[in-house]
Amino acid sequence: MKLILLGAPGAGKGTQAEKIVEKYGIPAVSTGNIIRAALKDGTEMGLKAKSYMEAGQLVPDEVVIGIIKDRLKEKDCENGFILDGFPRTIPQAQALEDMGIAIDKVLDIEVPDEKITARMSGRRVCAKCANSYHMLYKKPQVEGVCDACGGELVQRKDDAPETVQARLAEYHEMTEPLKDFYSNLGKLVIVEGQEEVADTTALVFKALED
Ligand code: ADP
Ligand code: ZN
Repeated sequence: MKLILLGAPGAGKGTQAEKIVEKYGIPAVSTGNIIRAALKDGTEMGLKAKSYMEAGQLVPDEVVIGIIKDRLKEKDCENGFILDGFPRTIPQAQALEDMGIAIDKVLDIEVPDEKITARMSGRRVCAKCANSYHMLYKKPQVEGVCDACGGELVQRKDDAPETVQARLAEYHEMTEPLKDFYSNLGKLVIVEGQEEVADTTALVFKALED
């Protein structure tokens, strides 16, 4: 199964991707996580991406398209994958088509902007292993500490309120047109994001089974 998760930043794509990984045994490929790892390792790609990412802007298409080309060639993607955070622009979606990759479904998780702004302020990530948490919706067992590795939980620079506004504007301008792109290909399924993560997951699973 080859899937794409669409949705505004903070709509809960990453969380739902994890649930799909558990249930279907396919890897989640998150360009955001790959870029953050490169940034941390100080690779050339990481350096190129740094200023864009911290300002809440999209990293240039050629950089992310290169990342995805390499990643999807890896063995674990053979039987399917779920793309979280890619494509985010029409040229990126076109590049995926040009690679000859047959996507089965595109799930769009819809959450109104006001809810996203409120949610993002509670988001925390582990400084060591990058696991993500939320102060209201996905609390760690011990406040401020990562369940997986004991690392410190911090707010991502790009989750600061001003940056969230920039990312939402970017989303509406650059990424939302992908809904029409995939709707025209007959692949778009819209899922309304719910208050409770589990309720959204139930809708996501249902959408995948239909
Ligand atoms: P979120 O968790 O809010 O969905 P991500 O972790 O997916 O955000 O992405 C964080 C940042 O990484 C983006 O704001 C952007 O700078 C960069 N990025 C990730 N994926 C892409 C992409 N497909 N195209 C361009 N930039 C990207
Ligand atoms: Zn951790």
